[in-house]
Amino acid sequence: MIALLQEEETMRNSTLKNLILVVSIISILVLLYFLSHINKPYGQSSMLQNLIKQSQPTNDEKDKPNYTSNPVEPTVPKPTEPTKQTEPEPEPEPLQPTKPTELLEPNSADNDSKESEEQNENLNNLYDNYLILVNKSNPISKGYNPPDLIQPKIPFNFSGDSPKKLMRLKAAQAIEKLFAKAKEENITLIAQSGYRSYQTQEAIFTYNQKRYGFEEANKVSAVAGQSEHQTGLAMDVSDPSLTPDPLVVAFGETKSGKWLAANAAHFGFIIRYPKGKEEITKYQYEPWHIRYVGVEPAKAIMENNLTLEEYLENINSNKN
Ligand SMILES: [Zn+2]
Repeated sequence: MIALLQEEETMRNSTLKNLILVVSIISILVLLYFLSHINKPYGQSSMLQNLIKQSQPTNDEKDKPNYTSNPVEPTVPKPTEPTKQTEPEPEPEPLQPTKPTELLEPNSADNDSKESEEQNENLNNLYDNYLILVNKSNPISKGYNPPDLIQPKIPFNFSGDSPKKLMRLKAAQAIEKLFAKAKEENITLIAQSGYRSYQTQEAIFTYNQKRYGFEEANKVSAVAGQSEHQTGLAMDVSDPSLTPDPLVVAFGETKSGKWLAANAAHFGFIIRYPKGKEEITKYQYEPWHIRYVGVEPAKAIMENNLTLEEYLENINSNKN
């Protein structure tokens, strides 16, 4: 009997539990139904709308009924805003032209070097004149380098390659003919010193100055820039019998020295520092120093016993 009562009671409990389960299932279904209709703009209770609105992310576009699109749309203009922000980024690019101008500064330095190259070219054109006058009053530019230096095929009193063996092309060709003619007439000539750069002349003069003092040094050697040897148009020539120093006044009294003075002009050379003209040339008599000026000027100078200074002065006064 007691067992039956207990059985009845457990049955009642189980039906109660079933009832609660069914009710809760129904309520869940109802809730699901409403939730599934949340997106529908109409037919929603004000309470549900409030619930929905609270569940929606807040945004400024209240007019739009399609709320799901709303969270997206604000993000759409945002990407455009960043693109607008990237637009200012090209602005730094326009700023970069300041860097190219900085880069232009080295270019302008290149332009400067080009200008100096042009200046040197103009200088070269100026000095290309075979009548170029270089003396103590008319120094040659430190930057001048003769454009067409070559080594003439003539005997030198030293072996090996040296800038001292170089002359400008026309002068080199002329001195080869001069030496060939001398050999033909049994005259022995030997070359000692042709082209000298500004720096070499500077070193020579500094050496002589230390040894003899400025005044004495300047009588026998030129201050840098004042030497004709920098033009590539001059050569010191002598007789090989004169040793150890062939560049002496005595050369002018030798057979070869006399022949040179008499024949140099036919090949375009002059005795640049003649005897008796020291006041004009400002150099002592140098029978060994020949200078290329071209055949016609050379003949005019040598036949009239002139210096290059006098010859050029005559030309200029005739022009005026
Ligand atoms: Zn000389």
